Amino acid sequence: MDKSTTEEEGFGNYSGGYYSVEIGESFNRGRYVVQSKLGWGTFSTVWLAWDTQLNRYVALKITKGTARFREYANREIRFLKAIAKGDPEDNECVVKLLDNFIHSGPNGHHVCLVLELLGDDLRTLLKHYNGKGIPLHMVKEICFHVLRGLDYLHRRLSIIHTDLKPENILLLSTIDPKKYPKKIGIPLKKDKSAIAASSSSVSSICMTGNQQTRLKEKGILVDQDCGKAANDEDEKLGVEAQGVKKKTWGNFKSLYDALDGKPLQRKRATVSPSEKRKLLESLDLKCKIADLGNACEITKQYTSHIQTLNYRCPETLLHSPYSTPADIWSVACIAFELATGAFLFNPQGKNSEDIVVDHLGLMMELLGVIPKEIALGGKLYAKFFDENGNLKGYRRLQCRPLINVLQESFGFSAKDADDFNDFLLLLLDFEPKDRPTAMQAILHPWLTGGPPLLQPSSSQENEEIIPQDNTTV
Ligand code: ATP
Ligand code: MG
Repeated sequence: MDKSTTEEEGFGNYSGGYYSVEIGESFNRGRYVVQSKLGWGTFSTVWLAWDTQLNRYVALKITKGTARFREYANREIRFLKAIAKGDPEDNECVVKLLDNFIHSGPNGHHVCLVLELLGDDLRTLLKHYNGKGIPLHMVKEICFHVLRGLDYLHRRLSIIHTDLKPENILLLSTIDPKKYPKKIGIPLKKDKSAIAASSSSVSSICMTGNQQTRLKEKGILVDQDCGKAANDEDEKLGVEAQGVKKKTWGNFKSLYDALDGKPLQRKRATVSPSEKRKLLESLDLKCKIADLGNACEITKQYTSHIQTLNYRCPETLLHSPYSTPADIWSVACIAFELATGAFLFNPQGKNSEDIVVDHLGLMMELLGVIPKEIALGGKLYAKFFDENGNLKGYRRLQCRPLINVLQESFGFSAKDADDFNDFLLLLLDFEPKDRPTAMQAILHPWLTGGPPLLQPSSSQENEEIIPQDNTTV
């Protein structure tokens, strides 16, 4: 699904139905205490939260509060429950649901999903490479995990994701290990004093006076030292390391006062370029497919408008029937983007029809003419093609094969371009039925012939994935 390119979800007016979360606010009768924001999407905001019952960090996805979004969220929960049930060993590279509940606020009743805490999404990873793309061996490893997750969704659960894109694929770890306070976090207690203390413990998070007032109104922050001493475990986990010796509002207040009324912001840790290079080189590339908010069953589809624009397959553009191969098309778009830093297709136009025409034209320039029998299967064929199979209103096709693009525009060696091109062209077949399944794609030499990095996301290896006799090209 498309969303604006702005960095924030528009909390200013909150017209979009999001729930306005306060740092330090607790959910589900005090069980989950919000620490900081992890991300957001069209349907939700996602927060790092401390689970006070099981003493662990989780990701709290708070969906929009209208009936329509509740329906989507309940569907997502249904899929996530099936995903967790079928994968008790956590081998399958798809995010796990831990809990769910409803939270009511001014914008309605919000379905909240408690998810295992994952790391950075692939869009963030790409940003660290300054738009130039990431090394091919890393792309291969990421593709392996994504395809493994897809194989599980498609073959075992008959689920189509329908919105695969870099934002919806998450590394298991963060690029900057300091990003989450995993090691220095403080296990929070359910009582309000401890919750107040938790706010003071997150040294990088500051609140506006207004936020504090609202937290005080909700009874989350208290004005004075409430005398709840840190327990031993807290001390071990580094209260000292945060420079906040006692977890009391008093300490937090002095922190606030020190800012002298200036707007309070999240402090950003600075990492030197050489440190950053080291972090990227040693990055664990295991990743999981997330955001099942637009998923559907193979046999029960809810809409023909699927996929985010750049990752959209031809059958979606032409409103032909779609199935699991739609996800495979998106994987090819993602692999290209990871390797080059550029969209494989970035259609433009004044209106949605122009954009579809541009999109189909770009596809044909790169991959050849869409076979008439395939295009004809789409409800919108006559809208976009004339009787000779020419795209209406598109310039004369300026064909440029993918392999040339890889070599000339992105500087891949002839061998790398050739191998990558072979893999991508299989996935980018205009005929959905001729695209490889996720499992077939995993077994392609471009992946199996790579460095010996390809392991499933958990320690348990699955022997059937990488055949012993097919590990080299
Ligand atoms: P979309 O606009 O793609 O439909 P959405 O509202 O359904 O988005 P998600 O894609 O699930 O929301 O999450 C939004 C962002 O929050 C992700 O891109 C990611 O950065 C972050 N995020 C989501 N789940 C987790 C998680 N389990 N752990 C860490 N971060 C997460
Ligand atoms: Mg998303």
